Amino acid sequence: MSKSARLAVIGAGPAGLSAATLAAELGLDVVLIDEQASPGGQIYRALAEAPAKRIDLLGDDYRRGRALLRALHTSGAEYWPDTSVWSLDQNRTLGILRAGRAAMLQFEQVIIAGGAMERPVPFPGWTLPGVMNLGAAQILLKSAGVVPAGGTVIAGVGPLLLLVARQYLRAGVAVKAVLEISPRSNMLRAAPHLLRATAGGSYLRRGVKYTADIMRAGVPIHYGVSRLRAHGDRHIESVEFASHGWRGRCDRMLATDSLLVHFGVTPRTSLVCAAGGRLAWDTSLQCWRTQVDQWGNTSVDGIAVAGDAAGIGGAISAEHSGRLAALAAASSLGHITAAERDRLSHADIAWRRKDLRIRPFLNALYRIPPEFLVPDDATIVCRCEEITAGQIRAAVREGHTDPNQVKFLLRCGMGPCQGRQCASSVAHIVSATRQIPAAACAPFRVRPPISPLSIEQLAELSMADE
Ligand SMILES: Cc1cc2nc3c(=O)[nH]c(=O)nc-3n(C[C@H](O)[C@H](O)[C@H](O)COP(=O)(O)OP(=O)(O)OC[C@H]3O[C@@H](n4cnc5c(N)ncnc54)[C@H](O)[C@@H]3O)c2cc1C
Repeated sequence: MSKSARLAVIGAGPAGLSAATLAAELGLDVVLIDEQASPGGQIYRALAEAPAKRIDLLGDDYRRGRALLRALHTSGAEYWPDTSVWSLDQNRTLGILRAGRAAMLQFEQVIIAGGAMERPVPFPGWTLPGVMNLGAAQILLKSAGVVPAGGTVIAGVGPLLLLVARQYLRAGVAVKAVLEISPRSNMLRAAPHLLRATAGGSYLRRGVKYTADIMRAGVPIHYGVSRLRAHGDRHIESVEFASHGWRGRCDRMLATDSLLVHFGVTPRTSLVCAAGGRLAWDTSLQCWRTQVDQWGNTSVDGIAVAGDAAGIGGAISAEHSGRLAALAAASSLGHITAAERDRLSHADIAWRRKDLRIRPFLNALYRIPPEFLVPDDATIVCRCEEITAGQIRAAVREGHTDPNQVKFLLRCGMGPCQGRQCASSVAHIVSATRQIPAAACAPFRVRPPISPLSIEQLAELSMADE
């Protein structure tokens, strides 16, 4: 066990980059840790290596990350790429895996900026080869310039559908259709937030432009899609769905060898859970998130969370929350006074508040309908252990009334993904079967390692401690 720096920042996305940069500029001894090979997080993934043509294709939002990368390099912060954090405890001891070797390091302050993950939503056929998460497909585009060769159908909910459809069209991919699942009733939910959303920057304008660009390219956008199903024998061959227009329901079938799905993103909470941090159910996001104060401080002393890991706010708000967490860490470590922290934070607080104005509108407009949160009996929910929604319902009816009891009985959540793919679906199925709010269903308990470690790596770790 060794102490290498006073502040550890986990995650080199916009939140972590801003936090580590400002902390180093304020004189803190800081190390920025990320499991990716280069900095940028999800939005600016592989930006440093991307050829100019790919950067042009991905657009201005992607290019914007360059300033953050430059600032990190000149800040003096230490940066550890290809390093995953597999454990964190309440004493701020991190278990890391770097160059194949595991180690434990203790820090005085920790900022978790681990971002979000795509919300896994099981539907009939979602495990067929050829069905893939849209964000994962976009990672292939950003990091390797790879796109679906035979064209694709894009389905799900939210702005990423429009963004990636447009990026694909610019890359010459045949997008056969965009299927948006948010029901028309969501517009009524979202309407009261519209005025505030227009004051939140250019997001709405961009959404309208992307929609117009996609339609102009001749790609049909179907709204209010339900009954989404992927069909195929060993590989997806077609997508079935019902679209709901003003003139009523219309059942459709599209031939395709690729379906890319996206149902929004949810905060990654494993590390903070492992450290014993408190979570809160977010009704508008329909998921758990970490309970934090305005600086990002969690219920565990010395551990803060910044960016999407604390609640979905997008890249710009992540930058501001990263800076706020850095100011709080600098103040806790005595590098600046509380008065200096407050003075230096004014601009970030104001900008973040402005940037977040769009969120209530987006959360209401892109609220996932119950049909997608609670799959039918035959659908596999836990991919690792191949457990269906029907088995989970039967377990609840037999008296296993809590997601953790369901986990012990059926092993869902105990496979290689450690529940990342099924935790939210299990909670929604338990809540629907028992007819209680999802907030009343305790999330899966998290125990390290939160990502796979080999026995050899663990054994070497214990020898290093002796
Ligand atoms: C797949 C995906 C694609 C997206 N694409 C876009 C897009 O094109 N445009 C857009 O505007 N928004 C996009 N978003 C949303 C956007 O990424 C976020 O709003 C923004 O990046 C949040 O910034 P962040 O710093 O909080 O987290 P992120 O940018 O997600 O960065 C988190 C970083 O933490 C690292 N990390 C997490 N856990 C660990 C660990 N245990 N050990 C080590 N490192 C860890 C990850 O490798 C990652 O680099 C996307 C989100 C996802 C999930």
